[in-house]
Amino acid sequence: MEKVAEGVYRLVLPLPFRGTDYLNVYILEEEKPAVIDTGIGDQVSVERVLKGVDEAGVKVGDLEYIITTHEHVEHFGGNKDVKDKSGGEVFAHTLAADAIEGFHEAVLELGKIIDRVEMPVWEKERLKLIMRFNMMIKVTKVDCRVKDGDKIDLGSCKLRVIHTPGHSLGHICLYDEERKALFTGDHVLGEGTPFVGSGFGGALYGVERDEGRLWWFDGDLDLYMKSLEKLLSLEIDRIFPAHGPVSTDPYRRISETLERKKSRERRLVEILQEGRNDLEAIVRELYGQTNDVYLVRGATLGYLNKLVKEGKVRFSVEKGKFYFELV
Ligand SMILES: [Zn+2]
Repeated sequence: MEKVAEGVYRLVLPLPFRGTDYLNVYILEEEKPAVIDTGIGDQVSVERVLKGVDEAGVKVGDLEYIITTHEHVEHFGGNKDVKDKSGGEVFAHTLAADAIEGFHEAVLELGKIIDRVEMPVWEKERLKLIMRFNMMIKVTKVDCRVKDGDKIDLGSCKLRVIHTPGHSLGHICLYDEERKALFTGDHVLGEGTPFVGSGFGGALYGVERDEGRLWWFDGDLDLYMKSLEKLLSLEIDRIFPAHGPVSTDPYRRISETLERKKSRERRLVEILQEGRNDLEAIVRELYGQTNDVYLVRGATLGYLNKLVKEGKVRFSVEKGKFYFELV
């Protein structure tokens, strides 16, 4: 565990995913102590979180706040066990709370879609495996639903809730005015840029639009860009991200992230101008060949969704295949 500021500790938890291989959990040793994000919730990581709390000089039973940056499993999976052990209360944005509390339902709903759609057997098996894993995640109620502008009072410091939808709809950053520090969750990472994927109705799985809820592909790139710009008005010296190292150059990190997303969007527009318009060809052109079919398709749909929202691109569906073209 690393002390990243007076009273702030960063605990690095390994994750079983590709792409993001660890999660930063932050422990705030304040009058009313808090933990930000809790990991995937397996026994080993829960024990590490509790040990980290102890090493930060906080008695587990004194933990008051279990704050969740957003509704993705590796951020809330440990909430139930940490809450049971500490008696702390779970805080999350209202939209994140809905998604967390309805998590298993959403996974089951997705299972029905997967059963029905045509896809290679190995893809189906892989998705089912992920689903079984998700059904084992323990879910607990969110005790306190927060919204933009709320202040979470830790006694010796206050965290201002900043709603930053984009990576997910219920995503929040937490601004510590005193330290001029921002806990960014997955909104701004220590390195690289976060996944902002969209299910685009059913396009992700080749089913008709607006069918069912689509798991964690609930990002919105248009909102994401606006949420990034929103941060530029804050006075920040450091960011404490959920993945990657702490950054002491926050505005650069934010503008690099914005630029990266914009340049990929420009590339996508070029691809459409070149006349490629079926989804699979666009995905291949934008990301090359990869095994992470859903990840890259979701990311591509994230860009397309933004362009459709802006009226720059229109789409059509023919026999379950999605086509996009510039207006
Ligand atoms: Zn996330």
